[in-house]
Amino acid sequence: MAKKYKGCAVGIDLGTTYSCVAVWQEHLNRVEIIHNDQGNNTTPSCVAFTVHERMIGDAAKNQAATNPENTVFDSKRLIGRKYSDDIVQKDKMLWPFKVIAGANDKPVIVVKYKGEEKQLCVEEVSSMILGKMREIAEAFLEKPVKNAVVTVPAYFNDSQRKATIDAGAIAGLNVVRIISEPTAAAIAYGLDRRNSSVEERNIFVFDLGGGTFDVSLLTIQDKNYHVKATAGNSHLGGEDIDNKMVKYFVKEFKRKNKVDISGNPRALRRLRTACERAKRTLSSAITVTVEIDALFEGIDFYSSMTRARFEEINLELFEECMETVERCLTDAEIEKSSVHDVVLVGGSSRIPKVQKLLQDFFNGKDLCKSINPDEAVAYGAAVQAALLSEGIKNVPNLVLLDVTPLSLGIELEGDVMSVVIPRNTTIPVKRTEVYNTVDDNQSAVDISVYEGERTRASDNNLLGFFTLSGFSRALRGHPFDVTFAMDENGILSVSAEDKTTGNKNKITISNNKDRLSAGEIERMIQEADIYKVEDKKFLRKAKTKNDLDDCIYEIRKALKKHDINSILCREEKEEMWSAINRATDLVDEKNEQDDMVVFEDCLNELRSMLERLKTT
Ligand code: ADP
Ligand code: MG
Repeated sequence: MAKKYKGCAVGIDLGTTYSCVAVWQEHLNRVEIIHNDQGNNTTPSCVAFTVHERMIGDAAKNQAATNPENTVFDSKRLIGRKYSDDIVQKDKMLWPFKVIAGANDKPVIVVKYKGEEKQLCVEEVSSMILGKMREIAEAFLEKPVKNAVVTVPAYFNDSQRKATIDAGAIAGLNVVRIISEPTAAAIAYGLDRRNSSVEERNIFVFDLGGGTFDVSLLTIQDKNYHVKATAGNSHLGGEDIDNKMVKYFVKEFKRKNKVDISGNPRALRRLRTACERAKRTLSSAITVTVEIDALFEGIDFYSSMTRARFEEINLELFEECMETVERCLTDAEIEKSSVHDVVLVGGSSRIPKVQKLLQDFFNGKDLCKSINPDEAVAYGAAVQAALLSEGIKNVPNLVLLDVTPLSLGIELEGDVMSVVIPRNTTIPVKRTEVYNTVDDNQSAVDISVYEGERTRASDNNLLGFFTLSGFSRALRGHPFDVTFAMDENGILSVSAEDKTTGNKNKITISNNKDRLSAGEIERMIQEADIYKVEDKKFLRKAKTKNDLDDCIYEIRKALKKHDINSILCREEKEEMWSAINRATDLVDEKNEQDDMVVFEDCLNELRSMLERLKTT
C-alpha cells in the first residue's frame, strides 16, 4: 500500500457522546490509548460557551446543567445533513441549544459567547472536538500531531464523510483516511490476521454507545473488509439507561420525601450525572450507592442500587438490542453459527448483562472484549494510521476496503437507471461507460446522477446533475464517456467527456446534496426487492420503447434517402405512416397504453417495414 504521509499520526474515534484518541507506539510495539487532562480515556464530545470562555470535553459537560442553551453536543447527528432533513427536525426538538437553517439549507448552531450571539456551522463544532483530541495527543506525545485517521459509522454517506474531513481540516488536522467504526474495531483485534485459510471470515460488531446502537456484519477475505449489513437504532444507548435509572430514583424520592423533582431541570441533571457514574460502577461492582447533597429543597438524596435491580429496569432495552442483532444477521443472510468473531464496541457494551445476552445469543461463543469496548475503535484507527505512515515497519500489513452501500449510475432516456458502479463494489473504484446522444445535432446532454437499486431512475435518490455541452453537429448515437470515481473516503466524483471535441464537465457530490441515512439505504434495498417484478416490467417497456424510437428514426432516415413513391404504393405508404404515428404515440405515452403486447406488435411491424426499406 502506498504510504501517504510522513510523521506522527493518531487514530481518532469521533463519537456522538464520547471521543477517544490513540496512537501506535513504535518503540513499545503497541497501541496506546491517550488519556486526557482529567485522566480519562474518553472525552465528552461536548463544547460550551460562556461569558468568559469556550470549554471542550469534560469541562463543557460538567457545566451543562447551568448553561444548557450554550452547551452543544450531538454534532455528529448533524454533520453532513441538511437542516430540513427529517432526522435533524426530530433531533432538534430534543436539544436545549438552538439550531437554525443557514445558507444552502445547512444547519447552523446559535450560541451566546462572551455576551454576543455566535453562529457556528456543524463542521466547526466537530472541529473543536477534533482539535481537543489533537491537543490531548500532543500533550501526551510532547510533539505536534498533524495527521489522523478518523472513524465514522459504516452507514455514513459521502456528504457526512466529507464534512468530517472538513472538520479535521478546520482543526488543522490532515485526515489521511476515514474508516468505518466496525472495521476499525475488527482491525484492533487483528481479525484479518487470524485467518489460516483463504476462506471468508464473518465478523459481527456490536456497538452500544452513549446515544446510538449500531450492529454490523463484516466479512474479511484476503485481508479485505466488506460491510455486508448494518442495523441499529439511532436513539438507543447509555443515555437511555441513565434515564431509566433517573426515573427509578425520582419515584423513590417521591415515595420517601413526598416531593416530585421531575419538574426541576437542575435536580434532574445532577441526578443524571450521579446515575451515569453509578451505572459505570455497576459494570464491575454488584451494588452501588448514590449520594447527592441537597438535591431538592435542601433534601439530601441517599440511595443504592444492586446490579440485579439495574438489569431488571433495563431488560426491555437490552432485549431490543438482541432483536436488532437478529435482524442484521437475517439481512446479511448469515446464520449465527457462521459468525467467526463477535466484537464488542461502545461504552455501554461493558455492561455484564449485555455481554451475557449477546454471548447466549451466539450460543456461548467467546466475545472479543479484551480491548475496552469504548477504546476499540480508536485503537483500530491508530493501527490504520500507523499502516499509512512512512517508516513504521512493525504493524502487520493489511489492505482496507469499504464498499459502495448503493448502486450508482445515471438516468437514461425514458427514466431508466443505468448502473455504472454496482452496490457493494469495493472502493476506491473508477469506472467509465460509453453512452450515446439520442437526437440528431444534439448540442448538450444533461447527466443526472442517482444512487439506488430501482430500475426507474426517479425511484432512486438524485445526487446531482450537470450538463456536458459543446457537441459538434452529429447524428443521434454520438458517443461520450461518463466516469464515476469514488475515493477511499467514499467521496464520489462524476465526469463526462466528449472524446471527439475534448469537451469535459464534472461534479463532486458534496455536503449540500441530498444523501441518505442508513435507515433509508436499508429501506431502499428492501424496496428494490419488493418491486422487482414491477421494475422488470418497467424495464421491458422502457427497452421496447427505446427500440421503437430507434426504428422510427431509422425508417425516417431510410425514407429520406429513397424516393418513397418508387418503392411503395399508396396503401403501403399510408400503412407505414399510420404505424409510425402509432409508434410515436406509444413512445410518447400518449394513450396510456400498458399492454406490452401492443408495444411488441408495433415494434415487430416497424422492424419488418424497416427490413423492406433496407432491401429495396
Ligand atoms: P459513543 O457512543 O459516543 O461512541 P462510547 O462508545 O464511549 O461513546 O459510549 C459512551 C457510553 O458508554 C456512555 O453512555 C457511558 O455512560 C457508557 N459507559 C462508559 N463506561 C461504561 C461502563 N463501565 N459501564 C456501563 N456503561 C459505560
Ligand atoms: Mg462510538
